Amino acid sequence: MNLCVEGHVGDIRLKLFEMLIRQKLLDKGLKAKTLTPQIVSFAITSACNLKCPHCHANAKKAFASELTIKEMLNAINQMADLGTEVLIFSGGEPLLRKNAVLNLTEYCSDLGIIPAMLTNGVLLNYKTAMELKDAGMLAVGIPLDFASPQRHDEFRGLPGTFSRAVNAIKACLNVDLKVVVTTMAMNSNFEEISKLLHFLAKLGVENVVLYDFIATGRGRELFNAALSMEKWSKLLHRIYTAQAEGDFFFLVSGGSPLYPGFIMEKQRKNETQPPDKLLRQFMVHSKVGCHAALYYLSLRPNGDVYPCPFLQINAGNIRENSLFEIWYRSEVFNILRNRKLLRGKCGGCEYREICGGCRARAYAKTGDFMEHDPNCPLELFETEETPLSAIEEFGICVG
Ligand code: SF4
Ligand code: SF4
Repeated sequence: MNLCVEGHVGDIRLKLFEMLIRQKLLDKGLKAKTLTPQIVSFAITSACNLKCPHCHANAKKAFASELTIKEMLNAINQMADLGTEVLIFSGGEPLLRKNAVLNLTEYCSDLGIIPAMLTNGVLLNYKTAMELKDAGMLAVGIPLDFASPQRHDEFRGLPGTFSRAVNAIKACLNVDLKVVVTTMAMNSNFEEISKLLHFLAKLGVENVVLYDFIATGRGRELFNAALSMEKWSKLLHRIYTAQAEGDFFFLVSGGSPLYPGFIMEKQRKNETQPPDKLLRQFMVHSKVGCHAALYYLSLRPNGDVYPCPFLQINAGNIRENSLFEIWYRSEVFNILRNRKLLRGKCGGCEYREICGGCRARAYAKTGDFMEHDPNCPLELFETEETPLSAIEEFGICVG
């Protein structure tokens, strides 16, 4: 398929090369472009073949009114016009609409937008991995939460999920499709994460996204799942060690965009280099912390637009308004951009412009997305003698 629209045509190879050069020569990730949705999370279906208890999208059945492929291609054209550079397909389970994934991936590649996808891996065999690779998919995120197959299967609610995820990882690596393992960091798997990393290293995985749990969607009742700041402090030390040894590069998604920069800052102080892995290139060079509505938006299967997949506040629908109108004119987006309007501790904080707290976690906790973030990282950073002001890049909250 080649549906390139004049004026949009980009070259994904050129973009990837530029990112690689920025990383290698300047030690910097993506160049930030003010008020541009450089990263879009696009949930293409709400249908899922698993029923994970923490699912922020509360995925089960397809919405009756999901966007057609034609509507989705049109949405991608609008993203290209707005300056989107990275598009993450998610769901639900996007491979339940495999045809759409392949069409949209190919279209993204034509437009110079980097396509990636989050999948549970159940439907991802060698043939599908090959098709994704041929369509131009750069990377696939596959979840593994426990080192123990039995515990992983219990958590995901379906026997065999662990081995299918592992097979999916192997299939992708076989066809040279980049793999990012996504792990929900919770109280229940906290002690297993080091063992899991050891297992992933043996598999050949080099990129890991740890999720800080936000109680939203189906997970809103899981009050005891989220790690305390004390546990995050310990976990960041473990991540630091694994990253300093060069095995992995880590992002920390879902409410903690400053943690990857915090780890890198510690590496710089100790004169070790962050390893040369794919995710390193996807840090965004901007002192902004929460990037919802600044560099990030989330398009839902029915055309609704959220500021971030974890901040589920409807800012408009692309069937009624253009993405341009929603991005620039929606009230929700404009409130989020004005940090003078933050309340509570975040409102009075000297770091509100370079952190902003996690608006999704504030919303989940208080019902007010401009309230304070209950997991403020300031004390942790100060204890570690790493000032918040030293963090120059944020990690994408992949979702
Ligand atoms: S609201 Fe901000 S900090 Fe929270 S998950 Fe979304 S982008 Fe990340
Ligand atoms: S109070 Fe904490 S979470 Fe809020 S902006 Fe300041 S440092 Fe960030």
